[in-house]
Amino acid sequence: MQIIRTKKELSAQVEACKSHGKTIGLVPTMGALHAGHLSLIRRSVSENNVCVVSIFVNPTQFNNKDDFKLYPRTLERDAALLESERVDFIFAPTADEMYTKEEMEESFVFDFGGLDKVMEGKMRPGHFNGVVQVVSRLFYLVRPDRAYFGEKDFQQLAIIRYMVGRSSLKGSFGSLQIVGCPIVREESGLAMSSRNERLSSEERQTAVNISKTLFASKEWAKSMSVREVEQKVTDTINGVEGLKVEYYEIVDGDSLQRTESFENAVGCVTVYCGEVRLIDNIRY
Ligand code: AMP
Repeated sequence: MQIIRTKKELSAQVEACKSHGKTIGLVPTMGALHAGHLSLIRRSVSENNVCVVSIFVNPTQFNNKDDFKLYPRTLERDAALLESERVDFIFAPTADEMYTKEEMEESFVFDFGGLDKVMEGKMRPGHFNGVVQVVSRLFYLVRPDRAYFGEKDFQQLAIIRYMVGRSSLKGSFGSLQIVGCPIVREESGLAMSSRNERLSSEERQTAVNISKTLFASKEWAKSMSVREVEQKVTDTINGVEGLKVEYYEIVDGDSLQRTESFENAVGCVTVYCGEVRLIDNIRY
């Protein structure tokens, strides 16, 4: 396994792989790797000749400076883990390597057909512009056959699919396939997240109530309306000391607009557990 720091070297390695007819899988991450990331990485290793994992805490997708500063960075540990998973390349650039000064400061505005106007997009202005800025750059550099994303970031996955769908009309990313992977949870049910590392052990116990409530809501959905379930999930989580719901919305799994029916519905939640912002979702 090789750790690559520059775009130039990455392009050279990609060129060499392509010239030997090798297929490439890409797993974009911000590091502090856990079993959720590993599920994507294992799938990429098994489905492609070469696996590239990017580790980059992308400044342009953070609208909260503290969140960016406090985001866990554990490159050495991550590298050891990826070596044992038979990953071929880690791409771990600095922000200066990824962006010019103008690109860092300029606010990009992409059109996501309204997918970015709800939930995370509404709460974190500019977040998805930053995500698409970095992900599209990675796609241009790595030119992967497949790229792997977790359903934990449900809205992100929808937006990336939309972006690739539109770009493929212009042939920008070749025949790139976006692969969505199910949420990996701790035994307690808590969705794995790098941000969990910032929870105290007491907060970790408290945070379990998020997934517990989401699971229970599938039962409630048998006898209640969509809006009633939304309200009950919100009230139940807010009723736990130490948790504060930012939003809970039951939306259509494709349009991400609020829905009145449980068909193809996904409930997406964001909760503050102390200072830490956690997200999760469930399919009905
Ligand atoms: P991140 O490092 O948080 O940007 O995540 C990198 C990728 O891993 C994203 O596609 C996430 O959706 C995915 N991911 C993070 N946590 C999980 C999880 N618990 N289960 C499945 N995928 C995950």
